[in-house]
Amino acid sequence: MTPKEQNHGLFDRACIIGIGLIGSSLARALKRDGLARELVAIDQSETACAEAIDLGIVTATSQDISAAAGCDLIIVATPVGVMPGVLQALADVAHDGAIIMDVGSVKGSVADAAAKLPPNLHVVPAHPIAGTENSGPASGFAELFENRWCILTPLARQDDAYLGAVEKVETLWRSIGSDVARMDAAHHDLALAVTSHLPHLIAYTLVGAADDVESVNEAEVVKYSAGGFRDFTRIAASDPVMWRDVFLHNKDAVLEVLGRFSEELAVMQRAIRWGDAQALEKAFTRSRGLRKAIIDAGQESAEPNFGRDSKPTRSDTDQ
Ligand code: NAP
Repeated sequence: MTPKEQNHGLFDRACIIGIGLIGSSLARALKRDGLARELVAIDQSETACAEAIDLGIVTATSQDISAAAGCDLIIVATPVGVMPGVLQALADVAHDGAIIMDVGSVKGSVADAAAKLPPNLHVVPAHPIAGTENSGPASGFAELFENRWCILTPLARQDDAYLGAVEKVETLWRSIGSDVARMDAAHHDLALAVTSHLPHLIAYTLVGAADDVESVNEAEVVKYSAGGFRDFTRIAASDPVMWRDVFLHNKDAVLEVLGRFSEELAVMQRAIRWGDAQALEKAFTRSRGLRKAIIDAGQESAEPNFGRDSKPTRSDTDQ
């Protein structure tokens, strides 16, 4: 029996609350690998529910959170801002011993909400560092998580039932092809502020700034857009609701790294103003080294155009 086959039926009845990009990708991967015998999508959007059925990725759908009753795995894949409310609602619905796993891009606010739940519910926060700029059930794909990291930020609980739940969640992610790391929520939020949240903020700001330069019209920006700018537009096309919530819920860490970024930017501005060739070259050489380390670690392709097709088929933005 292969390790994958050993995990068949790891869960009995699973539900996914929020059947968008991440939720539907998980649904596809769970279905492909037979990790849950039954899979229900719960989404506030009637359209998303209908799409999930049409796509054949779940066995049933509901717009009512009470459909999570009787599930041994409850995945919360909504935007981060509504997660505390969803967790609170699950306290009245989820059965004894249920594992609740969120996939939010910010972990501190989930940990705070999870701490208020009764100990017979096992909340295991997870963040797959995989994604694209697209949203909705049709945009998902089962391979999204393969060879990408998933960070677990377990709660500060040491009872056997909870530790068993964390192990089971780790088995799920490994089974669908992810590498798994564990860290505390605060460290996760600072690390991701550097590697994901600040880059998104810069992309949104840069694309907005290009739009504001009145003497260069939109047609020219589109026509002459160079590779660097095109990449920023892809990141800046990410879901506005998701990213609104990320910045509202990871405020302190983002402000910390934004402060450092502003200082570095001022140094570059000064170097350009004073024609300091040495300072510019030194800074650019340092960042080349970091890119090489990311490629060497298999987290990016060295191919031109970042190894991407014109249509994204795998994790282009790691969120
Ligand atoms: P998405 O494609 O926009 O899907 C979210 C779905 O949740 C939508 O169908 C939305 O419905 C639904 N929803 C919102 N509030 C709900 C509620 N209270 N109850 C039930 N359903 C609700 O979002 P996504 O990109 O998959 O992101 C989901 C989560 O994964 C976020 O927390 C995000 O931080 C995290 N994440 C995202 C990425 C990424 O690259 N996108 C990567 C890693 C982690 P409406 O359309 O009606 O709002």
